Amino acid sequence: MSSGTGGGAGGGISGGTSGGIRFESVSVAYDGNAGSLALESLDLTVGPGEVMALLGPSGSGKTTALRAVAGFVRPVSGRVFLGDRDVTDLPPHRRGIGMVVQQYALFPHMRVADNVAFGLRARRAAKDEIRERVAEALEMTGMAAYARRYPRELSGGQQQRVAIARALAIRPGVLLLDEPLSALDAQLRSGMLAELARLHRELPDVSILYVTHDQVEALTLADRIAVMDRARLRACGTPTELYRAPADEFTASFVGGANLLPVTVGAGGVDFAGVGVKVDTAGAVSGARATLCVRPHLVGLGQGPNQLAGVVKDIQWRGATHRLYVEVGGHEVMADLRELRDPPGFGDDVALHFAPEDAVLLPAGVGRG
Ligand code: ADP
Ligand code: MG
Repeated sequence: MSSGTGGGAGGGISGGTSGGIRFESVSVAYDGNAGSLALESLDLTVGPGEVMALLGPSGSGKTTALRAVAGFVRPVSGRVFLGDRDVTDLPPHRRGIGMVVQQYALFPHMRVADNVAFGLRARRAAKDEIRERVAEALEMTGMAAYARRYPRELSGGQQQRVAIARALAIRPGVLLLDEPLSALDAQLRSGMLAELARLHRELPDVSILYVTHDQVEALTLADRIAVMDRARLRACGTPTELYRAPADEFTASFVGGANLLPVTVGAGGVDFAGVGVKVDTAGAVSGARATLCVRPHLVGLGQGPNQLAGVVKDIQWRGATHRLYVEVGGHEVMADLRELRDPPGFGDDVALHFAPEDAVLLPAGVGRG
């Protein structure tokens, strides 16, 4: 709740109700680069009030997807919907969208309050309304005390808060955030991440599309994650789904660290480096090559089920855990171990193990190359 007038119905920045975002087979090509698509036939739905992270490496088409929603690029084919409204042919300012990009992009010659008022003035809102909404937006982002400052008098984190306030001031039904934290240092970033999570709780009806290449941001904020790879949607699911049961190697390695071990499917298990390993092989063809995905923190040290013998190649202390790199039959297996009182050293023979239910069998090699 914001302080101030106390508001009537929908007081505070309740956010517009967008009814969500829908991409229908959206393809985008940039001028002078017509041969290749920057976004290829994207089908994706962001529900009302949902936070969807678009996660993927640089150049995978994330920003392009965002621009298609905002109206800054026109798809060569496909449609974009906000709720039931087909907005594909609408100019950006008529879409009711708030957008925040990586480089704060504030107007340097305008005070904070005028920056935040910009979208409202462009929409010819009444003076009283502007004053009220600017105050609310600054309140929400913790910037009320800075209304009279110029951007150059603010830190990077504060500038980004103002950019967020500016986006919120128009009460958008859809908020587009393009790597909003990537210009901030690590400590500020985690603080802002918590702030964004709080903002989302205060604006439960606003649909958010959050572009990032940082899996921690995606896992922290998103209700669902859409994984992008080379202009295409590779996978979409809740963080838990993608983490526990990734559909392919690309998703497995991009969402959380993963051991991706080459195996051959047998009866009731697989063969890895000459060792029989128990794992659910439902749907896999006996004799086929496949990839076994095991998360490093689910690998234990010492004797246990699915035991593998190997030699320690490296050990890194990471504060809460030790990361062990162990060579097993010519392959590297990573184990993240907590409370390791007496860590093994380089060259030591060790045994690793993991529970059958903690491993997921993936198609061999799909997603690489
Ligand atoms: P991401 O945000 O995932 O890093 P982008 O959506 O910015 O990726 O870019 C996707 C692809 O489109 C890249 O190959 C990029 O080089 C290309 N691209 C992006 N913007 C333009 C542009 N204005 N003109 C031509 N090509 C572009
Ligand atoms: Mg980008």
